[in-house]
Amino acid sequence: MSHVFHRSLTQSYPTAVRGDGPYLIDSQGKRYLDASGGAAVSCLGHSDAGVIEAIREQVGTLAYAHTSFFTSEPMEALADFLIERAPQGLESVYFVSGGSEAVEAALKLARQYFVEIGQPQRRHVIARRQSYHGNTLGALAAGGNAWRRQQFQPLLIDVSHVSPCYAYREQRADETPEALGMRLAAELEAEILNLGAENVMAFIAEPVVGATLGAVPAVPGYFKRVREVCDRHGVLLILDEVMCGMGRTGSLFAAEQEGISADLITVAKGLGAGYQPIGATLVSGRIVDAIRQGSGFFQHGHTYIGHATACAAALAVQKTIEERQLLARVSELGAGLRARLQERFGDHPHVGDLRGRGLFQGVELVRERASKEPFDPALKLHAKLKKAAMARGLMCYPMGGTLDGRRGDHILLAPPFILEETHLDELVDKLDAALRSALAEV
Ligand code: PMP
Repeated sequence: MSHVFHRSLTQSYPTAVRGDGPYLIDSQGKRYLDASGGAAVSCLGHSDAGVIEAIREQVGTLAYAHTSFFTSEPMEALADFLIERAPQGLESVYFVSGGSEAVEAALKLARQYFVEIGQPQRRHVIARRQSYHGNTLGALAAGGNAWRRQQFQPLLIDVSHVSPCYAYREQRADETPEALGMRLAAELEAEILNLGAENVMAFIAEPVVGATLGAVPAVPGYFKRVREVCDRHGVLLILDEVMCGMGRTGSLFAAEQEGISADLITVAKGLGAGYQPIGATLVSGRIVDAIRQGSGFFQHGHTYIGHATACAAALAVQKTIEERQLLARVSELGAGLRARLQERFGDHPHVGDLRGRGLFQGVELVRERASKEPFDPALKLHAKLKKAAMARGLMCYPMGGTLDGRRGDHILLAPPFILEETHLDELVDKLDAALRSALAEV
């Protein structure tokens, strides 16, 4: 019997033993095409020689130096790399070990900023329904995923939730996408006014929603308006790019495609591409200055922040992406994937929506296309699909629908940036077969 406290205590898992490009191989020698990058992590696949060598070199020289005593070359170099390419106004990088920690740091930075500038009553956070920002208690409080929050209520910080920018289900019949964006930005503004702008600390949102909705980009103009609303009321904008950032949508930061910057941007997953656990919070000059001129010290920290080997790995990953011009490849492959999905599932009676950006694509499943009615969540279509896909040697990332019918089961696809066209064919063939099998069961 395994002594590991696994994610599920009732399920058994194959043992992964080796990586080979976009494939993982289990102890039986079976190969799995990684069409989800784990969870939008493995953007360089599983055996990049350059990254492995960079890790080896770093471990051999300086594996780790506690950041209350030292800085390190890889940490400085990675911060420079990110800030040189980040949206305007971001000046510093706070390194952590993953996405939840990046969100916690962002929330605490926002809070400390307002304490430092003499507005300590600003402590309320606004997020969106059906969002996920991590599982630690602060990040969980921010998230608007009822199922994940339920058993941990009451949560630690005050958060209210507004509608997600989810055109497939939120856009009214008589509304243009632009009008939807305006209506939702107005909803955010109304919530700020309702709480009293002087009490609101931050609005947090994913530019392209990953885990909870399945690769849903915002409608054009939405984020520009959100930025304006936040500025009008002195509310900080936190963009959670833990999943959609670091090239996943075709630009290094997803915010670039919205034409906005943020006060704080969180990244993780693709930053280290799974070669090392690492996340980061990019911080605007305004926040850094307020803390520097105030107490001079961010009241936070973990043992492994700025881990030298993790930073060296992430730097190697990001340099590889740049040197091999993989962001252009993401856009190309993304278009190829979308075209194949459209061809295969465009008229499928149980595929309600195809959406996404770059190599971040989502398929929403419905019981009936016309009414957009989801399958009964009790059928656990997503779990059946995951099982059927794994049986066929395909990793994809399905997620369940909601009881209130606000979302159907969906499949998130986020494969490595190093695929060949033939992998796209394999992906869609296997997904099609898995979907047939799962649908036959329900
Ligand atoms: N934010 C977003 C948008 C995420 O998708 C995730 C992970 N799925 C997190 C935060 C939390 O990241 P981690 O699992 O690395 O803590």
